[in-house]
Amino acid sequence: MADTILCFDIGGTTIRTATATEGAQPGKVARFDTPAGDHGAFLALISSIIDDLPERPAALAISLAGIVNPETGRLVVANIPAIHGTDLKADLEERTGLPVIIANDADCFAVSEAVFGAGRDHDIVFGVIFGTGVGGGLVSGKRLINRAGGFAGEWGHGPVVPLVVGERTIPHFACGCGLSGCVDTVAGGPGLQRLHAFLHGETRGAPAILSGWHAGEARAAQTVETCLQLLAGPLAMAINLTGATIVPAGGGLARDHALVAAIDDVVRPLTLAKPRHRLVVPATSGEEPGLAGAAAIGFQTLEIAADRA
Ligand SMILES: [Zn+2]
Repeated sequence: MADTILCFDIGGTTIRTATATEGAQPGKVARFDTPAGDHGAFLALISSIIDDLPERPAALAISLAGIVNPETGRLVVANIPAIHGTDLKADLEERTGLPVIIANDADCFAVSEAVFGAGRDHDIVFGVIFGTGVGGGLVSGKRLINRAGGFAGEWGHGPVVPLVVGERTIPHFACGCGLSGCVDTVAGGPGLQRLHAFLHGETRGAPAILSGWHAGEARAAQTVETCLQLLAGPLAMAINLTGATIVPAGGGLARDHALVAAIDDVVRPLTLAKPRHRLVVPATSGEEPGLAGAAAIGFQTLEIAADRA
């Protein structure tokens, strides 16, 4: 059995990396600038990080804000030109001679919560992200569902938000995924900003909207309340579909625990189960769920490979 995995959380500007042992949170985190647009420089950077380690890891496990196209094996990760459209797994395996495991960041978050966080005592964990976008990942028995594609649990996309909230008509905004009416367009940071601009003709970032909501400002409160009404039905439906008994929330907006509680207040009564305990809860698996989740998926993948051998 492998001793260590080198895990990476790859973002548009920064690569974070740490060494992990099985069943433990990753160790000290090192940071590097993400090479802009140059795949060769990207591969060279990863190689040099491995060369600098005191001992060679058993595998590389990578979390990133994208998916692996299950038909072509190529990455769809629009905000990182250095790896978008590449077969990063094959390229890195050839360059380093190590097994490479790549997973979507929301999936890594969900696994991190299932293994180390709020989902520790639950069989089915549906991790949801309220960040730059709205995403999610689904875990059963600590194992990710549909790891290869990264689509399972992605409740943020689909033409589903209500068109009327109270007396007010809310248009279906166009989404980056090609559809319109996605939860992603109204419930992440940019979505909240878009909703506020539509309702009040005022440009205001999500943090300012949330602080206005906390301060009892009417406009900010209306924006947040509208956002909650738009996401409640789709999220309740997703929870019914998955059978999740806990829904840890992560991403920038979920750092606002009052917002997470408000989401739970609107969503829980719409679920069929209507449990007495909080369903949507703040994440508790630490500051590096991407690294922790990638490492856990990496160890699981190595175990599966060893069992088959
Ligand atoms: Zn969409």
